[in-house]
Amino acid sequence: MFAFLVGTVYSAGAQNEALPIRGFCISAPKPDELNDFIKFVDEELAPRQVNTLILRIDYNYQFESHPELRDQITLSKADVKRLVEVCKKQNIRLIPQINMLGHQSWAGKIGKLLEVYPEFDETPNVKIPEKYVWPNADGLYCKSYCPLHPELHQILFDLIDEICDVFESDAFHAGMDEVFYIGHDSCPRCSGLDKADLFAGEVNRIRNHLAEKNRKLWIWGDRLIDGKTTGMGMWEASMNNTYRAIDMIAKDVMICDWHYDRPDQTAVYFAMKGFNVVTCPWNKAQVAAVQTEDMFRFRQSATPEMKDRFQGMLQTVWSGVGPFLKEFYNLKQSDDHSVSNCFRATFDTIHKKN
Ligand SMILES: [Zn+2]
Repeated sequence: MFAFLVGTVYSAGAQNEALPIRGFCISAPKPDELNDFIKFVDEELAPRQVNTLILRIDYNYQFESHPELRDQITLSKADVKRLVEVCKKQNIRLIPQINMLGHQSWAGKIGKLLEVYPEFDETPNVKIPEKYVWPNADGLYCKSYCPLHPELHQILFDLIDEICDVFESDAFHAGMDEVFYIGHDSCPRCSGLDKADLFAGEVNRIRNHLAEKNRKLWIWGDRLIDGKTTGMGMWEASMNNTYRAIDMIAKDVMICDWHYDRPDQTAVYFAMKGFNVVTCPWNKAQVAAVQTEDMFRFRQSATPEMKDRFQGMLQTVWSGVGPFLKEFYNLKQSDDHSVSNCFRATFDTIHKKN
């Protein structure tokens, strides 16, 4: 026992190494928010040594490969190049996100992909209600596309390639969180198939496409956690049997492990399965501080094999740029449930540890 203790690599009190990933994730700015957002990158992200910026772009871009999939208000190529430039200048890795599989509608609004290509809908019989309420009889949270539709992937891969090219990115975030409609009984292609197989198949298909151009796939981790056994439920974990996909997907997929209300230590689970993982807080400063402390502790106490899989922290912001910046610059310090206080707590804790 004594020899074991002497030999251990755990070194409490020593100077911590910097976290490899110190990230921030938000919707891509709208064109009229671009100047303020670039200022925020220069004045707030860079001094905090944020080194990874994920922008949820979805259809907020003037796609040339599929102009039919442009949102009404979109960033131009020149707009995106301004984001690329500021990130280059500040040594920030810029990663675009388009939601794959789930999140193809939001409340009472169908997303652009299924609006233009309704044939890709996994549940065409489920109509988007005029007044959306949750819960509802259809179990409609968000629409999904059917991952087995034969004409789907050519379009998705065109979009992914174009957005990665314009962002000059070596990684792509595919979302893939909160997929409730998968392997639906009413889908002629997916009905009766194993939901974990379907989920893993789609992850690997996108991963393999990206790998052809040396790009890495990032996804949210919730579908890979067993919601029933862990008690984590249907949102931040899976209650529809997709969780077994954790043993079926390529190990070089980056897992963004989000937990907002409790600092659940699921990063350890992903690291033990061989994945690189970042922990993602949202709007609770106290939870984020514990999660950040945990991330340093995991890196310090894990085996050499696992240590580097604990890649760091990723602050998530689920509003648009406008509302977030408003909150950030006018905040009352007493508000514990504010995203900007959570962001400050995450990065204050990171810098305290170094
Ligand atoms: Zn299907």
